[in-house]
Amino acid sequence: MPALKVAPQANRINTAYPAALIKIKMNIHEFQAKQLFKDYGVPVQDGVAVKTEAEFDSAIAKIPGDHVVVKAQIHAGGRGKGTFADGFQGGVKFVKREEAAAIAKKMLGNTLITKQTGPAGKVVGTIFFTEAVDIAKEYYLSILLDRASGKVAIVASTAGGMDIEKVAAETPEQIMKMLVDPDIGLQAFQIRKLAFFFGFGEKELMKQFKAIISGLYKLFMDKDCSLVEINPLVLTEQNRIEALDAKVAFDDNGLFRHPEIEALRDIHEEDPKEIEAGKYGLNYIALDGNIACMVNGAGLAMSTMDIIKYFGGNPANFLDVGGGANEEAITQAFKILLKDKNVKGILVNIFGGIMRCDVIAAGVIAAVKNVGLNLPLVVRLEGTNVELGRKMLAESGIKLTTADSLADAAEKIVNIVAQQNK
Ligand code: GDP
Ligand code: MG
Repeated sequence: MPALKVAPQANRINTAYPAALIKIKMNIHEFQAKQLFKDYGVPVQDGVAVKTEAEFDSAIAKIPGDHVVVKAQIHAGGRGKGTFADGFQGGVKFVKREEAAAIAKKMLGNTLITKQTGPAGKVVGTIFFTEAVDIAKEYYLSILLDRASGKVAIVASTAGGMDIEKVAAETPEQIMKMLVDPDIGLQAFQIRKLAFFFGFGEKELMKQFKAIISGLYKLFMDKDCSLVEINPLVLTEQNRIEALDAKVAFDDNGLFRHPEIEALRDIHEEDPKEIEAGKYGLNYIALDGNIACMVNGAGLAMSTMDIIKYFGGNPANFLDVGGGANEEAITQAFKILLKDKNVKGILVNIFGGIMRCDVIAAGVIAAVKNVGLNLPLVVRLEGTNVELGRKMLAESGIKLTTADSLADAAEKIVNIVAQQNK
């Protein structure tokens, strides 16, 4: 393999790919996360989640108080400031109880667009009615995995209800990040430090905060979470600390240990291409570039994406067809890739280890004929029986460009796609 040209920007290639790439994200709805909070002793408002209009009145009747908060349930934040497809403003509304059903009617089945959904938005399939609270102050609190240190990070902020990335960029002094060693667990002095940072030093508030952070930490560990986030955590006028919003995401790799969490999955919220891929044992994650990648092995898939970026292109997806990719899997993989309308070219990069290159070549040829591909295709094969595999591709009659190294393959597909777009 020819040595790769190392450009000065080379050490910047492996930039932030979405966390989804490492499959750490099964999301659940706010109402489900709040039920988990309740189970772990973290105070939340009473609430009822429903999926049909017929259930609105009985749900609202169960909520105490003159006011009700009507909350659209989608797997995305920023709902309060979101806009529906028909122009209706706000996916979180604080209203008089008599108005709640009419507001909920406008939300259910409507498409909510927020900063986190992308322009297509998400269809609201569930409405959550909750008890309203009188807020004295809003805070931010989250627990997540800190990959750099291999520890659990607790992020706290006195600027609640805001976009936390924005707070981090503009007023970092309002954020405190604390690392917890998972082998030792959350220590009493750490809890006190966080409490004082929030201004919960007074005895009664300290007691409430201790129960909340201990419960959240236990939830995070017990359920193999990748994120537990409360934005905002509030101090009410009655001096109670409560979670007003709740976001919990799980490490997919730990899901087999938690059938009760798997049961909370809402597949309407997930990318249909990703679900389809899952059925065939393919690990597919959609990205926003235009070069589709088909690769075997997650590490090779990551390197392939890096090298596409290195040559100035943008991957349209992460796709690991697995070590034992056969003709069927490769055909399905092509079909899934082609469902993405942004795709302008395909790079197949397969390393024949256990699988022989001639078998893979046969799979690629059959799949391309089967699917009727008419996008540029670059194929790089390496490994056992590579000569035979290349010969088969060359003689197949299908239009493709072969490459003899990863760098060569990436450079070729990036150039072809760039030429096309001129
Ligand atoms: P998000 O916009 O998707 O993050 O949804 P949230 O659940 O965080 O709600 C958005 C905002 O609505 C919150 O930050 C609060 O300011 C406000 N809000 C939600 N529930 C209540 C409530 O019971 N009382 C009051 N006063 N405001 C609320
Ligand atoms: Mg929120």
